[in-house]
Amino acid sequence: MALDAERGSVGLVPTMGALHEGHLSLIRRAAAETDRVVVSVFVNPTQFNDPGDLAKYPRDLERDAALAFGAAATVIYAPSVEQIYPDGFATTVQVRGITERWEGASRPGHFDGVATVVAILLDQTRPDRSYFGEKDFQQLTMIRRMHADLALPGKIVGCPLVREDDGLALSSRNVRLNAGARQWALALSRALRAMRAQAEAGERNVRPLLATGERLLAQVDLDYLAIVDPATLDPVDTLVPGARALVAATVGGVRLIDTMAMTDG
Ligand code: AMP
Repeated sequence: MALDAERGSVGLVPTMGALHEGHLSLIRRAAAETDRVVVSVFVNPTQFNDPGDLAKYPRDLERDAALAFGAAATVIYAPSVEQIYPDGFATTVQVRGITERWEGASRPGHFDGVATVVAILLDQTRPDRSYFGEKDFQQLTMIRRMHADLALPGKIVGCPLVREDDGLALSSRNVRLNAGARQWALALSRALRAMRAQAEAGERNVRPLLATGERLLAQVDLDYLAIVDPATLDPVDTLVPGARALVAATVGGVRLIDTMAMTDG
């Protein structure tokens, strides 16, 4: 169709705003690979299982727009809740299996909210390529499954996790860490790095790797630390290619997640 030919290829970067370098890396990648980049900014109420977390979620659309355009976004799409969930909205997209452990077990309903909003955003924007961070590894895995199952448009592109210089995984929630908690939070990336180093030194058994990580995480409120198959997210006993460590912990009242490949894929 002439109109489609004129619009060129479209890249979609779904976000909840409070943009940081992690988001900007997705936007830059999208700009390098597609003609027009749509950055959606929508704090999706249905994916928050904790109303306090939703209320405290940082919001500053003007700042986000400036950062996104600076990273070569073409359009900022910041819908209202009614534009996504019109009156009478009654549908939930649920991906079974992959979502049942880890974040899914700790945050009931979270992935249903994510799957539903991503399906809506993909339908509304019809992108050729959609960009998601490996930071939310389980989310990315779920989105790939849903995308295939529902034959949603375009291609899903996973992008590497971006860290602060000291190793902390960038997250919109980091602004809520006070100076003390910010230091404790380094335990997550330190644990993952130590595990990876042990794996690189030849350790193939998962148990000693987890023991190393748990030791370094002793001072934080650990939710889970696991090493999983990168496709199924089932725990493994021995490292498989691309095996992934997943960690979640609460530090200074802020829930943080991090992830690292333990071996090259
Ligand atoms: P959020 O705004 O937290 O929903 O994140 C929007 C997108 O940015 C998701 O695909 C995230 O996985 C991705 N993202 C968030 N933090 C990072 C990071 N530190 N590195 C890479 N991607 C990230």
